[in-house]
Amino acid sequence: MSLRTALPQVNTPLPGPKAKAWLDKREKVMPAAIKQFYPVVIERGEGAMIEDADGNRLLDWVAGVGVMNIGYSNPELIEAVKEQADKYFHSMMNITTNTKYLDLAEEIGKIAPVRGDNKQVMLVNTGAETVENAVKIARGATGRPNVIVFSGAFHGRTALTMTMTAKKAYALGMGPFPDGIYRADFPYTYRAPDCMPEEKMIPFFIERLKSLFETHSPAKYVAAIIFEPLQGEGGFIPAPLEWVKEVRKLCDEHGILMVADEVQTGFGRTGRMFASEYYKEAGCEPDIMTFAKAVAGGLPLGGVVTSKEIMDKVPGGTIGGTYNGNAIACAAALKVLEVMQRDDYSANARKINDVCMKRFNDWKDKFDVIGDVRGMGAMMGIEFIKDANKTPNAEIVGKIVQTAIQKGLMIEPAGTFGNVIRFLSPLCITDGQLAAGLDIFEESIKECV
Ligand code: PMP
Repeated sequence: MSLRTALPQVNTPLPGPKAKAWLDKREKVMPAAIKQFYPVVIERGEGAMIEDADGNRLLDWVAGVGVMNIGYSNPELIEAVKEQADKYFHSMMNITTNTKYLDLAEEIGKIAPVRGDNKQVMLVNTGAETVENAVKIARGATGRPNVIVFSGAFHGRTALTMTMTAKKAYALGMGPFPDGIYRADFPYTYRAPDCMPEEKMIPFFIERLKSLFETHSPAKYVAAIIFEPLQGEGGFIPAPLEWVKEVRKLCDEHGILMVADEVQTGFGRTGRMFASEYYKEAGCEPDIMTFAKAVAGGLPLGGVVTSKEIMDKVPGGTIGGTYNGNAIACAAALKVLEVMQRDDYSANARKINDVCMKRFNDWKDKFDVIGDVRGMGAMMGIEFIKDANKTPNAEIVGKIVQTAIQKGLMIEPAGTFGNVIRFLSPLCITDGQLAAGLDIFEESIKECV
């Protein structure tokens, strides 16, 4: 039976017997350090639903952490992958030119809201690699060593990117770390200093950022300022547009490149193909943008896009990699772009936002444990607190997540304090599935308060 329009249905407490056997095997053969929060073993997926090894049907609001924006098993995507698989899988771009890379770079170049008339794209395989390479490109182009990142940032788990990532639980015992990374405060307005009036917040956070030029690195040694338009792992915190405008000004004043890490926000998620489109409209688009996750509908692919002018300054041979721009992943990405643009997936994200935000705001009035609801498009977060001092409430988040999964809804915690629940469903979710998921979510909160 098709799962595409199915509703959640759990027949056995999770994990069921088959899933349990797989999870036992997982414990034997996989490092425990690759953490697992859910008793779920996937058998197949369609649209926004997955079926587990025991035939339970689960509504997936995690979507591989923002990868399955187009949904599981899109028939057109399957066809595009098969067609490419029949021709060839791989060609290393330093050796033989794979035309799918070129077509994808051209398409991304047309729509990427970054500065410059002629865009170029470096393709890689993961989000972390996109950020590594954005830093290398910024250093190569400016001849400067240092990079500014933010509190709450997540940029990956390679040596460089785990240094850039704020949460140190992701880097425990992994030092020594690379030099030249300096951290400023992200404009997490919900947790701005007590009683600060709203109009003072943006100048406050910009002053904090500027102070790094005195205390950490003079501006003339800063190659790039890198931020997520809406922090994902950090707690689903949008960067206020007025703050971005000020960052853009600061970058221009000092010859620093502004980099938007759109690994999680890209491909329709925030109600636009890229969140940087909002910046372009306001005249503060980035110089460099990274993307990954949803670009190839579940195949490993990511990229860095910037102007030819910037790319031309990068010394030859300093960037590259064997699998970069894999032909099957590129064929998939071309189809993802076509389908998302044709069927206006960004509009789906905006519709999802309308429906969810109404419910989330009702819950905020109803449940004292909800301190804040926020987000853009289908990238929304609910922050849970213990008291009027906004003490983070990770305990209730853990309980809600585990309660919801037993009812057939997969939701995931986020945030430096683990006290935010994130919404990242596939953008093809049906109205019925969305309503069913919201009902399960609300019931789960009620049972846990
Ligand atoms: N940047 C951002 C904004 C991310 O959300 C992530 C992954 N959560 C990464 C980089 C790293 O991506 P990957 O896990 O594919 O290396």
